[in-house]
Amino acid sequence: MGSAQSQEEVESAHRQGVITAVAEDIPEGNDDDDLPAPEAQIVPLAANLTANLKPDYVDNARQATPGEPIDLPFKLGRTLGTGAFGKVKLGVHNQTKERVAVKIVPREKLLDKRLQANMAREIKMMKLLRNEHIVRLYDVVVARTKIYLAMEYADGGDLLSFVNARKQMAEPEAAAIFAQVIDGVGFCHKLGVCHRDLKLENLLLCKGKVKIADFGLANYAPPPTTAAGSFMETHCGSPLYAAPELLRNTAAYDATKVDVWSLGVVLYALVTKKLPFEGDGLPTILKKIVAGEFTVPPHLSAQVVDLLRKMLNVDPVVRLSVEEIEAHEWVRMHAAPKRADDAIERTLSMEQLENEMGVLQAASGAGRGNPAAEPAERKRPTTMTAADIQKEIATARSEAARAKEEVARAEAAAKAQQPLS
Ligand code: ATP
Ligand code: MG
Repeated sequence: MGSAQSQEEVESAHRQGVITAVAEDIPEGNDDDDLPAPEAQIVPLAANLTANLKPDYVDNARQATPGEPIDLPFKLGRTLGTGAFGKVKLGVHNQTKERVAVKIVPREKLLDKRLQANMAREIKMMKLLRNEHIVRLYDVVVARTKIYLAMEYADGGDLLSFVNARKQMAEPEAAAIFAQVIDGVGFCHKLGVCHRDLKLENLLLCKGKVKIADFGLANYAPPPTTAAGSFMETHCGSPLYAAPELLRNTAAYDATKVDVWSLGVVLYALVTKKLPFEGDGLPTILKKIVAGEFTVPPHLSAQVVDLLRKMLNVDPVVRLSVEEIEAHEWVRMHAAPKRADDAIERTLSMEQLENEMGVLQAASGAGRGNPAAEPAERKRPTTMTAADIQKEIATARSEAARAKEEVARAEAAAKAQQPLS
């Protein structure tokens, strides 16, 4: 364990984009390939990329002048996963010893305009969205041949492995996971941000909490009012989670409802351990998606089936919004009582976002004066006695400890079950 830091120091370090907290050790696992060569230098980004990565969004990006030797602020360890951009590795911050996940993106990938735009969006969104269910981006280091994104490390793997490693989840447990995803996505939608690539692989577990990751396809899209211009026109997420309107060749779509469809697929997987739209080959699957055809296993409750049907409704106009999902009977009947400290945390985040969202809205040329894009009214904690609060915190702590144990058990049991896909 490293030296103890006061809460104030930790907060201040986070505000400056410096990583805090403690890690005991880091397993060896550096590929030389992932480290900058000793003679490597930090150089400015290509002009076109710099245009996307405005200092407003990447206020702590390191872009030293040419000639300055590179000095990564973290050590790299084993590979956590590999994505379209490159590897994600475990890292430990040199000073604070906190574990981080470091996405290493070769800059040559960014010669592709589409990937470049995705990268810029990922950084921009993750810097702006502060919510306990969204992976935080701490730091960006731009080196000669690579960009390093240091993020909050999710120690429990992704939800796909979690679901695969376990027996059929009981509905209350699935609801507890689902509620966290809804909380994170609802937070994005209230600010006019749509993720557009929600799937089990992009939902990570961190100390028993769900964290939404991979904002590479996210974009600013206020819910459509009367203006057709607020709809989006491009999409390239996983077809298994794609809403029918994306496959029907319609010119524009409401991206919030596309997220809701994907969440419907996630919920189905949580309560059945299967994907709703499967078959031999992509054409069969796509046909089922467009028809909204899925089977309902008999063990499901009537309430969850009702919610699934309303989320996996082929008509995006009728399909529920995230707000309506939050109000649905199945979600409410399993909802855990709100913790007082949760409400306080959310209040702080919203205040920060109110300031910061101005930047995002101005950049997208939208959102100003659009009531749908205004931050939602903050919920104050209801009146509680000190004893109530103590009791709730104690319950939440024991739940968190139980969840941690379950994650550890699930990890140990991994590979024992048939994979989903
Ligand atoms: P793709 O677009 O192909 O999904 P990507 O290049 O955008 O991939 P991510 O999805 O962000 O990359 O990450 C790839 C994998 O790395 C994830 O599936 C996960 O296993 C691991 N990973 C990513 N972020 C983290 C994190 N914060 N903590 C732990 N593991 C992570
Ligand atoms: Mg991903």
